[in-house]
Order: sequence, then structure tokens, then C-alpha cells
Amino acid sequence: MPDYHKGDLRLVGLTKSFGSFTAVHPVDLTIPEGSFFALLGPSGCGKTTTLRMIAGLEAPTAGTILIGDEDITARKAHQRNVNTVFQSYALFPHMTVLDNVMFGLKRRGDKDARTKAVEALELVQLEGLGSRKPVQLSGGMQQRVALARALVNRPDVLLLDEPLGALDLKLRRQMQVELKRIQQEVGLTFIHVTHDQEEAMTMADTIAVMNEGRVEQIGDPATLYEQPRSTFVANFLGQSNLLRAEVIPGSGREGITLVRSHDADLEVAEDHLPEGVSDVWLGVRPEKLRLGDAGGPNRLKGVVRDVSFTGVATHYIVAMPWGRELTVVQQNDGSARASLGETVTVSWAAEHGFALDASQDADAGAMVEDDV
Ligand code: ATP
Repeated sequence: MPDYHKGDLRLVGLTKSFGSFTAVHPVDLTIPEGSFFALLGPSGCGKTTTLRMIAGLEAPTAGTILIGDEDITARKAHQRNVNTVFQSYALFPHMTVLDNVMFGLKRRGDKDARTKAVEALELVQLEGLGSRKPVQLSGGMQQRVALARALVNRPDVLLLDEPLGALDLKLRRQMQVELKRIQQEVGLTFIHVTHDQEEAMTMADTIAVMNEGRVEQIGDPATLYEQPRSTFVANFLGQSNLLRAEVIPGSGREGITLVRSHDADLEVAEDHLPEGVSDVWLGVRPEKLRLGDAGGPNRLKGVVRDVSFTGVATHYIVAMPWGRELTVVQQNDGSARASLGETVTVSWAAEHGFALDASQDADAGAMVEDDV
């Protein structure tokens, strides 16, 4: 039995080089039919090139693209049942909204073009606006028209290339929820390209994190966040505190290994430790750190260097005796707050830490891109 289904999109050894530069190193991916999949990574990581190969807008240097067992690699863009929604809406300005949505269907002689277009406009909550021209709509509404125009074709795969990039933050957040709802309602495969980790986490069932033309890790948002397998993923998806540590083999209670970091023996869950590695970065997310002694072995002392109150939480910067700083985020649950200059204990539970091979750069993926 193959490990894919008939409607799954499969990339097998998909590669793209421009001259001597390899923009996409061989990628092997199966994107399940009906799922919301995100390709996430910083500018230049190769996500758009991957998307363009799927769309048929860029010829791969090597590898194949299949839907189930059907090889579509050699097919022209218009021969693939794949549609793309771009950041620029690319609507026909002289046509009404309804005509824009109907355009493809009419050209193919679909007798139900109008009914289908009206339904698609309902789906994106633009009912009643079909007679307007695109310029008479806001940016967010125009993006919905572009979405309706793509969905009306019932593509096997809908590609979304940073579709929300031109919208302001509030509208973007609204559209993220909306896109997820639409995807669930229509049940089509969506592949969303973005550099915005929060956007990918909010919407996608599965995320492939790309870095320098390679897929670093694939998983559901929670697994990627809780158990990153590289410093790049740990830093690119949220923030991580990384402590240099050395594994003490065969130590610790059941399911736990001890690592020594700056003279402290700290516990890590065994399955959060890479195999066969003795020098590690011990990572803990800022919201998993507690100010105060939780009673376990994972505690370190430091001095509060900065306190910022954000309403829902307080962010602390705590300086460690060896010079590095930890970021601690404490929910605003009414408990006492620490003050600037105070010596505090920072603690965390063993299962909240993850260890990464220390041969990697601790700053990989940190602040590679601002949210634009
Ligand atoms: P962005 O979000 O900035 O578009 P990206 O992750 O989508 O980034 P790509 O657009 O896929 O990245 O580009 C990957 C790399 O390939 C970049 O270094 C880019 O300069 C290079 N590249 C893309 N298209 C071409 C081309 N036609 N010729 C030469 N190099 C290219």
C-alpha cells in the first residue's frame, strides 16, 4: 500500500537551480488532500520557487510533481487543475466583481457559471456586491474576490502566495480566521506561502519550515513549536532561550536525562534529546519559564534587567551570572511581579525543555526578518 492517497499532492526530489545557484534543494513532501499546508521561511528560502513549480510557472531542474499517481510535472500551468492567489489581486478592473469571478468558467463554456460565481461570492461573504467594480471595494474585499475567482474552479490545489501581505495587521488577522473557515468549508487543498510564523501557525494543519532552499522540519504547529529539531526552527517560530549544556550519559530518573549547564544539573525529557550528541543547546520557551522556585531541579538564579508590562503578560529579561540573558514571559494572573535589579530564581519543568545539537549556530533564524 502506498503511503499517500489519490488526491494528495506529492513532490518527489523536486529541485530548482538558477545557473550554479540552487534555490530549492531536493524536496520530498506529501501534502494530504484537503489539508491546509504552509510553506514558511524567511525571504529567499525558496518557498515561492517551490510554489511556482507546483503552479507550472517554473520548470523544475529535477524531480517530479504528482497528484496521487498522476505525474503533472510536464504539464503547462493552464493544464493543471491548480490555481494561485497572489498578493496583488490581479483582477480585471473594467469588469464587475461577478464577471471577474465568472471569467474562467464562462471561457470554458460552463453553463452554471453565474450560479457558481454567486455561490463563491457568498462563500467569501461578498454576497450582493457582484455588480461593483473592483476599485469600489477595499483591499481586503478585492482579496476575497481573487479568492472566489480561484475557488470557483474547484482546483485540486489552491496556492496562496503571501495573499494577505498587502493588508494591514488587523485585517490580516481577520482574513486568517476567514481563510481557515473557507478552507474547511470547501475542503480543498490549500498551500500557503508566508514568512509570517504566526500566520502559518494560526491557519495551517501542517507547516514545512524552509531555510536556504531546504525543508528543515515538517509538522503540526504545536509539535514544531514544542519540539523544534534545529536552532533555526526554535528561533524562527517564536522565541527560545538556549543554554549551552553537556549531556551526562545514563543519568536521571526514568524518562529523564541530566545535562550540566554552567554548574547546574538540569533535567530534560529523554525524548526531547537528539541521539548521539553530547554538547547541546538546552532550549526553553519564555512562557514556560517561571519566576520563583517551582521546587524541581531546573532552577537558575539571575538578576532582573528589564521589566515590560504588556497587559496580558509581563516580559522580563533576566541576566545570568555567565553573561547571557533569559527572557521570561509571565501571564498576568495577579501574582506578584519582580522588580528591576531583583535577584530571582527562574525555574521550569523537565518536559518543557528541548535539546538541540550544539554544533548549530544559537542565533540561526533569530530576527532574520521583520514582520512586514
Ligand atoms: P521571498 O519571500 O522574498 O519571495 P522566497 O522564500 O519565496 O523569498 P524565492 O523567491 O523562492 O524565495 O527565491 C529563492 C532564491 O532563488 C533567492 O535567492 C532568489 O534570489 C533566487 N531566485 C528566484 N528566482 C530566480 C531567478 N529567476 N533567477 C535567479 N535567481 C532566482
